[in-house]
Amino acid sequence: MSRIFSGIQPSGELHIGNYLGAVRNWVRLQDQHECIYSIVDYHAITGTYEPEDLRRRTREMAISLLAAGLDPEKCTLFVQSMVPEHTELAWIFNTVTPLGELERQTQFKDKASRQESVMAGLLNYPVLQAADILLYRASLVPVGEDQVQHLELSREIARRWNARFGEDFFPEPQPLLTPTRRIMGLDGQAKMSKSMGNTIGILETDEAIWAKLRPAVTDPARVRRTDPGTPEVCNIYHLHRAFSDPATVEHVATQCRTAGWGCIECKQVLLESMTRELGPIRERAAELRARPELVSEVLYAGAERCRAIARETMREVKERMGLAELSEVTR
Ligand code: SF4
Repeated sequence: MSRIFSGIQPSGELHIGNYLGAVRNWVRLQDQHECIYSIVDYHAITGTYEPEDLRRRTREMAISLLAAGLDPEKCTLFVQSMVPEHTELAWIFNTVTPLGELERQTQFKDKASRQESVMAGLLNYPVLQAADILLYRASLVPVGEDQVQHLELSREIARRWNARFGEDFFPEPQPLLTPTRRIMGLDGQAKMSKSMGNTIGILETDEAIWAKLRPAVTDPARVRRTDPGTPEVCNIYHLHRAFSDPATVEHVATQCRTAGWGCIECKQVLLESMTRELGPIRERAAELRARPELVSEVLYAGAERCRAIARETMREVKERMGLAELSEVTR
């Protein structure tokens, strides 16, 4: 079995964009590979934040992931800061990563252009990402298209470190492209993202989801009920493709093209499909909230398992680099 690593920001409750774009695939992969999944809180502190809020969001993300189907019997789930070797390896990788490579990263340029003062952590974010993956010597990383450049940098870092210290010690991780198209926000303008306020949370009630779906942007050609539309340009149609069965998706396309129904009817059918999938997830989340010790146990056991792998990687890394080991110092 190949080892897979993937991380998700502790943004609180999962929204359907990251559920469809990543987590639904993670659930499938846990049956096929050895999967290590992390809530990457060290990555979340490169911008401004409140400590209590970060703690709450981390917890909420763990509940969402477990409710969405991550099974601690089949995969490992942990919080990144519970395994300090991530930052230790990141420092080491900083010493083999050219500054120019980091400055060229599109995500860095985008984010830096929107921040008044840019911290070094934002620039070095992809180095920590390389450490996240390579600490477990993972060979596959499920990514969306927008993450491919970062992964290429992880491969470059692995090559550089290997060339200097370790021949083939670190595998060059390969991308496993997530097979769901990018889900746009309800405004139809940009990728679904919490910071844009255009999301639907996977744990929201039907009433709350309907309040968002009802005014959501559709094909602008459908001004009147009798105007035919083009489903492919409509985000609601793409959500049907993600949540509805194939027969319903076909029906949606026909009804849209022939103006057989209005957008409100189309959205009502979508809500039914979403409830079928998200209802059981909401129930599991409520059970987990009622037993918080279960969530803590899963995260603790996951971190213990990861620390054992991480310690072994760092022992080898330090030995090859001529760095001191604790056992060596105390001998
Ligand atoms: S009928 Fe459905 S697919 Fe067509 S434009 Fe309206 S919401 Fe979109």
